[in-house]
Parts: sequence; structure tokens; C-alpha cells
Amino acid sequence: MQEFSYTKAKSEEEVVSLLSSDGDGVRVLSGGTDLIVQLREGRRRASLIVDVKGIPEANALVYDPAEGLRLGAAVACHRICGDATVNQVYPGLIDAISLIGGTAIQGRASVGGNLCNASPAADSIPALIVHRAVCIIAGPGGRREAPVEAFCTAPGQNVLQRGEFLVALRVPPPPPRFGAGYLRFIPRNEMDIAVVGAGASVVLDQDRATFVSARIALGAVAPTPLLATEAGEYLAGKPVSAEVIAEAARIAQAASRPISDMRGTAAQRKHLSAVLVRRALEKAIERASRDE
Ligand SMILES: Cc1cc2nc3c(=O)[nH]c(=O)nc-3n(C[C@H](O)[C@H](O)[C@H](O)COP(=O)(O)OP(=O)(O)OC[C@H]3O[C@@H](n4cnc5c(N)ncnc54)[C@H](O)[C@@H]3O)c2cc1C
Repeated sequence: MQEFSYTKAKSEEEVVSLLSSDGDGVRVLSGGTDLIVQLREGRRRASLIVDVKGIPEANALVYDPAEGLRLGAAVACHRICGDATVNQVYPGLIDAISLIGGTAIQGRASVGGNLCNASPAADSIPALIVHRAVCIIAGPGGRREAPVEAFCTAPGQNVLQRGEFLVALRVPPPPPRFGAGYLRFIPRNEMDIAVVGAGASVVLDQDRATFVSARIALGAVAPTPLLATEAGEYLAGKPVSAEVIAEAARIAQAASRPISDMRGTAAQRKHLSAVLVRRALEKAIERASRDE
């Protein structure tokens, strides 16, 4: 393990100031389940680690029916999965967050870290995208916001500039008859990285017979998690039917650009994209149909 200094920041300003002083050598730590592994393997270098778990806003988990969810970037997954309100209002987010690692990892790992690590296969990102989640970023110029679908720019890269860090995520309140779901394929039952992940959200009309709107996002099939815009737009105004769902899955599949690696071939990933999008849509529709 390389040597580095560690500090636990108490405020947003302190983090911004430390990151601005030596952007390349300073790294933010939320849970450390990616960062510590990467430092040990020499995949990242750091002279100073700034722990943000002590910053109140990075640790807040607050739901307001008018504002939606404010999810601090450093809130550990086990806290989110144990929150009755998040389970009730955002089961599609829980689908994804509960998959991250096992019990020990859940105790430390955060959604903010999952997003900032910018892995194409990160489980929380497609789920955040279909929920229209927005990143709240603090930096030398104050705060700015960015939609989650625009946050990752390449594998391991994101839009954060020198001096900036992710404070929290804002997830809008679900509209009436909204449902979302996320699922992934892995070759074993747990503790593996997605071969393909798929998230979907839908808003249905009063009769639950027509799509008002939809969003579909895929993981592990492109350099960054992918919002399949055309597939979601195709569903708007269409009847809820097996044929329409299959066509949306085909359009999303066409948008995927997978590679072959040790986890699976490009052909297998293409095939899985359509299967998982169809199943994620069915899950989202089932939840939206139950919503009063
Ligand atoms: C055994 C094991 C199993 C795993 N299983 C899964 C899995 O099933 N699915 C999955 O998606 N991932 C998995 N992971 C990866 C990892 O646990 C997740 O990506 C986790 O959510 C990362 O969160 P963290 O808080 O630990 O991030 P950290 O390790 O603290 O940070 C990750 C990266 O983001 C940066 N960062 C962290 N917080 C901020 C911030 N607030 N602002 C700016 N930059 C920040 C760090 O500098 C670092 O580069 C697994 C890891 C292990 C070790």
C-alpha cells in the first residue's frame, strides 16, 4: 500500500479548499471500497485522502414529498436499504443499491462513491438515471448541478473539475402511477460486477393501459452508463403490450455498444440487453400499476 495522509473534513468549504490546493494528489473518500483497493493496486495515486463522511450534507438522507429525496453522497448503502421511506417510495433504487457488494461492503460503500468511481458497470447509475436523479456538486465557484446521465465521461472519469466534489444527489418525487425497476445479470449469485445492468421507469395513464413517459438505462454495454433516450421516447403514448415492450427493448439493445471481456462476449451482452430491458420494464409497469 502506498503512503498517504488522511483527514476527516468537517465542511464543504474545507474539502473544496483541500482539493483546490493540490487537485491531483488529493482524493475524496466516502466508503473507500473502491478507492482503497485502487490505491493498494497502484491504479490510483494519492498524497492526501479527504474523508467526507463527517460533512452533514454528505451524510443526510431526507425525503420530502414535495422536494423528493436528498441523498448525501457518502451515505452508506446499508442505511439507504434500511430506510422504510426509501423502500416504499423508491423501490427501483433499492433494487440497485441492495446489489452493491455483500454485508461488509454495504456497511461502508456509498451511492456517491459508486457514481464518482464511474465504472460502466456500476449498479446504482442506471437506476439513478431512470429516476432523473441530479448531482449536487460543490466547487471553488460555489455549487452547480448536473443530471446523472451526464456525469460519467469515460470509464473511471467524470465531470468533476479541479476543486470539485459530489455533495449529494437529488431524486425528484415520483409522479402518480410511476414505477421503476433495476436488474442485472451476473454469472453467480452475488458479489460480482454486472455483465449487463438495466433500469427502467414508466409513468402510466389513469387506466394503466398507456405509457405517458418512460426512461431506460443500461450498464456495462458502453464506456459509460447509457440513457437509451430513443427507447424511452418510443414508449410515450403507446399501449402497454408485450409487442410494444419488446420493441422498446430492441431499440435499447440497438443503442448498446458492448465489448467482449473476461465477464462476457459482446454478443452475449447484446442479447442480455434486450432481455433485461424487457424484464426491467415489466417490473416498472407492475409497480406503476399498483401505485394509487
Ligand atoms: C467485494 C466488492 C464487491 C463489490 N460489488 C459491487 C457491486 O455489486 N456493484 C457495484 O456497482 N459496485 C461494487 N463494488 C464497488 C464499490 O463497492 C462501489 O462502487 C461502492 O459504491 C463505492 O462507494 P464508496 O463509498 O466505497 O466509494 P469510495 O471508494 O470512497 O470512492 C470511489 C471513487 O469515487 C471518489 N469519490 C468518492 N466519494 C466522492 C465524492 N463525494 N465526491 C467526489 N469523488 C468521490 C473517490 O475518490 C474514488 O475515486 C464492489 C467492491 C468490492 C470491494
